[in-house]
Amino acid sequence: MRYAIFGDIHANLEALTTVIEDSQAQRCNSYVCLGDVVGYNANPGECLEQVRAMDCPTVKGNHDDEASQESSLDDLNPLAESALLWTRKQLSEDQKQWLRDLKLVRQVRDFTIVHATLDSPASWAYVSNRFDAMASFSYQFTQLCFYGHTHTPRIYEKSDTVQCLRETEVNLRRGVKYFINIGSVGQPRDGDWRASYAIYDSDNQSVKIQRLEYDLRTTQQKIRDAGLPTILAERLALGR
Ligand code: ZN
Repeated sequence: MRYAIFGDIHANLEALTTVIEDSQAQRCNSYVCLGDVVGYNANPGECLEQVRAMDCPTVKGNHDDEASQESSLDDLNPLAESALLWTRKQLSEDQKQWLRDLKLVRQVRDFTIVHATLDSPASWAYVSNRFDAMASFSYQFTQLCFYGHTHTPRIYEKSDTVQCLRETEVNLRRGVKYFINIGSVGQPRDGDWRASYAIYDSDNQSVKIQRLEYDLRTTQQKIRDAGLPTILAERLALGR
């Protein structure tokens, strides 16, 4: 199997379309989504319908959670909050129900998927260093787990110790566990504006992070036309 593993799409349809086209060119035959389909950018309904039509294993992200509820938005930064209030108005009740029904953690064949962390998936903490990764490894019962949420691709490896690899590609070794952040399709934050996703080849036992240029200008124009905060358009070009 060749899995295309993607997440943190954040309603960026141009980036999502580019990732799907590339994954087909890369001969991927299975899809897995790590959540945050909506929030920030201007095509939440379109992105949700695209992912729903793919009918692939999907876990819930914090923006999926907030966008599908009616409760007040507490712990969010002001940008995320104004985008989420806008997003709630764009989604149908049926689309919100699809988001509500998503699980926090799933096992897909021989690997695990989660949006934020394995040690406390519902609290939406961030794995930003190897100590955070260690906490998730304690709850990781498969060799391989994919996650997102920080919008920064990272490969953590656990053998005797936990370390963060410098590479964006890894050949999986027996007896070693991997906790891999696939980066973000629709709002990368590692200083590289290009869309990010991962290809997991289960026959070759390899994982590779892919980066792709997409039609950024169209995405930015849609954000401005929608009346969303313009800084959301500007940050896309910076990868922040
Ligand atoms: Zn996100």
